[in-house]
Amino acid sequence: MDYKDYYKILGVARGANADEIKKAFRKLARKYHPDVNPGDKKAEEKFKEINEAYEVLSDADKRKKYDTLGPNWQEQFGPSPAGSRRTYQYSGSRGGTPFEFDPNGPGFSDFFEALFGRNNANGGKGSTGGPTRDMRRRAGDNIEQPVEITLQEAYLGGSRTFNIQSTEICPTCQGTGETNGRLCATCSGQGMVPRNKRIQVKIPAGVDNGSKIRVAGEGQPGIGGGPRGDLYLVITVKLDPAFERKGDDLYADVDVELVKAMLGGEVPVPIPDGRRMALTIPAETQNNRTFRLAGKGMPRLRGEGAGNLYARVKVVLPMQLSIEERALFETLARSRGVEVHP
Ligand SMILES: [Zn+2]
Repeated sequence: MDYKDYYKILGVARGANADEIKKAFRKLARKYHPDVNPGDKKAEEKFKEINEAYEVLSDADKRKKYDTLGPNWQEQFGPSPAGSRRTYQYSGSRGGTPFEFDPNGPGFSDFFEALFGRNNANGGKGSTGGPTRDMRRRAGDNIEQPVEITLQEAYLGGSRTFNIQSTEICPTCQGTGETNGRLCATCSGQGMVPRNKRIQVKIPAGVDNGSKIRVAGEGQPGIGGGPRGDLYLVITVKLDPAFERKGDDLYADVDVELVKAMLGGEVPVPIPDGRRMALTIPAETQNNRTFRLAGKGMPRLRGEGAGNLYARVKVVLPMQLSIEERALFETLARSRGVEVHP
């Protein structure tokens, strides 16, 4: 029986924390997953090894016990359990937890079994992605799917249809991966087939980048008759050329004719629902002066009311002056004592 260096297997330091171990496990599990290495025995062995290492290092008690093994580690074990080879069964990527272990024996090494016993594989941790024995009936994994919406949709909220992708149990083979003793042609033996669905989702007003909208029961299918997991739509709000968003506040540049900036008056300010509202600016409004339109920003996703809309004045200088206009500006220049060279 060989000693297994679980730290080396996961490529982490002995002092690695739970997060580092989880990260290392996930990275390796993705690389050696049988789904991406079909028929590759070496990858499958490696995958088993990774799972076993994670089983031990992700469990504080098991890790402690493992860490106390000294040079005479073999003597520290009790008598080895009856050493018949365990069967190990790959059952397709059901909800991202692709392994079901034979209830009569986990697919762990003799080393593991000598240390922790046959029936001590971790049960019930479910979502860690590590192997579990208690998988007879389990909810499917949750899925996250990125979606893009416009600022107007985020501002108004409302209903929208999205295409979502998940998987479902193969209808031909019922997830066994084979029909009449042969590889199932529908799912190529995976037991799962892609599932595309259009669903209508309510977008709450005020969502921002990274907001997650939960759609219950549209995740990966459950195992052993368990319910489907949930789907989370992860929002990205498209950039809008008219608005800059900072939290719940919006900033918009508003073009104002020079004469209106000088004399004062009403200017139209765009709001994200497509309408405009009138802002009254005083005489002699300077370029870049910003006006606050209270409560006209983004609705607050949590809590009451809305942020503010800040309208920033961009004075537009007149072009293509007529002869009369030019004369007026020359009069203005003289009046202000500004020397000009026509
Ligand atoms: Zn099938």
